[in-house]
Amino acid sequence: MKPIWLRIKPEEPLVLGSVKPDAQFLTTCTYIPGRLLRGAWAEWLQMQGVRDIFSHVQRLRIGNFFPAVEDGQLQYALPLPLTAVTCKHEPGFRTELVPNRRGHGVVDTLLPQLTYHLLREAGAQMTAPFVLTCIQNQCDARMEPADGFYGVYKQGQQERYVQFRPRFHAQTKVALSRFRRASQAQMLYTVNALAPKAPAVTTKNGTKPVIFLGRVYGDPQALQELKQALEHIAIGALHTRGYGRVTAETTDLSGWPGLKERVKRFNNLLRELWKDLKRLAANADALPAEPEGMYFSVNLLAPGVFQNQGMPSLVPELHINGRVLKPVWWATRPDVASGWSTAWGLPKPTNLAARMGSVYVYRWDDGSLDGLLPALQTLETEGIGLRRDEGFGEVLVCHPFHQEVEER
Ligand SMILES: [Zn+2]
Repeated sequence: MKPIWLRIKPEEPLVLGSVKPDAQFLTTCTYIPGRLLRGAWAEWLQMQGVRDIFSHVQRLRIGNFFPAVEDGQLQYALPLPLTAVTCKHEPGFRTELVPNRRGHGVVDTLLPQLTYHLLREAGAQMTAPFVLTCIQNQCDARMEPADGFYGVYKQGQQERYVQFRPRFHAQTKVALSRFRRASQAQMLYTVNALAPKAPAVTTKNGTKPVIFLGRVYGDPQALQELKQALEHIAIGALHTRGYGRVTAETTDLSGWPGLKERVKRFNNLLRELWKDLKRLAANADALPAEPEGMYFSVNLLAPGVFQNQGMPSLVPELHINGRVLKPVWWATRPDVASGWSTAWGLPKPTNLAARMGSVYVYRWDDGSLDGLLPALQTLETEGIGLRRDEGFGEVLVCHPFHQEVEER
C-alpha cells in the first residue's frame, strides 16, 4: 500500500500536547502527532451520532506530521536521525539560504559508523579510531548531536537543507474544570502555543506560514471523512478556545525518493565507504572487496514501544518473510510512552519507549531486493512494536539523510 501525503496548514496557534488536569503550564511539541488528528476525527464522528467509532477510524493509519516553512520549493520534511551531528562551534546547515543562520554543516554518521563496524567484524585491523571533526575552514571542532526537524528545498538543480525554527506565543488563561466546563476560581495557567508562522527561509526578515507534512495509509473514502472532520473540529488542547484550527489537503511530493531507490542508494553508499575505509586497515588486502549481504535501516518517526521475550526493550526484532532479524547496529535513546484517553478521561499506562529518531540497521541475506521490498513496504504501512494504534512505532526505511556523509 502506497502512502498518501497530506499537507496540514494551521490557521490558529497549536497546543500539541496532552492536557493534564492540574498542570499550570500547557506546552506543545513542534510536530503534529497523528493521534491528535484521529482524536479530532473521532470527536466529529461522535457529534454525528456514529456508533463504533473505533472501527471507523481504524480504516486509516495516520502517521506523524513534521513542520517546515512554506517558502521556496519545499520537497519534504523529516526529523533528523539520532546519528546526525553538527559542528560544536558553528552548528547548523551550510546550505541555509539566510546567511546569518548558516553553520558549518550537519552530517550523518550512520553509514560511516556501520562501515567501520562491519569492516572490524570482517577482521579488519583498523589503524585509526573512528573520530569525526568539522572540516569546514580548518575548523577541526568536535561534532555534537543535531536534532529537530529539517526541510529539503529545491533551488535550481541544488537541494538546500533548512532547520525548522519554531516560534511560540504565550498567553495566560483562566482554567476550566475539565469535568464541569466552568471556570474554577483563581486558577490561571499559561499556554505556550506553536505559532502558525515562522522565520522565512528565502529572505533575511519576515515570516512565512508553517505547514506540516506526513503520511496516511488506507481507504481513500476514510481520508475524505478525516478531511471533512478537520474542517469542523480543531486539533490539540484548548481546541474550542481559539487554538488548533487547521486545513488538510493531499499533496504530491515530487522530490520524495521512493522506497526502492532509498534502499539501493543506502547499499551503494555502503559499498563506496567500504572501499574508502578499507584502505585504513593494516590488512586491507586480506579483506573482501565488498560487504557481504544487503542492509537496510529502520528509522523511528514516532517513539517505539518494544518487547523481546516479554521484557521491555529499546531494540526491536523484525519478522520478515518467516525470519527473525536482530539489528546488526543501532543508535537509540530512551523515552516514555504515555498517553491520555479522551474517552475515559484517564491516563494510559506508561511504557519505556525508544525515542523518535532512533535507527536500527538489519542485514538481509536471502535473495534479491525485489523479494524484500514488499516486507519493507509493510513495515512502513503498519509500523513496528506495540501500541501502534496510538501512533507509536511509525517507521521509515533508509531515511534519506543517511546519504549525507559530507557536511550539508
Ligand atoms: Zn566547524
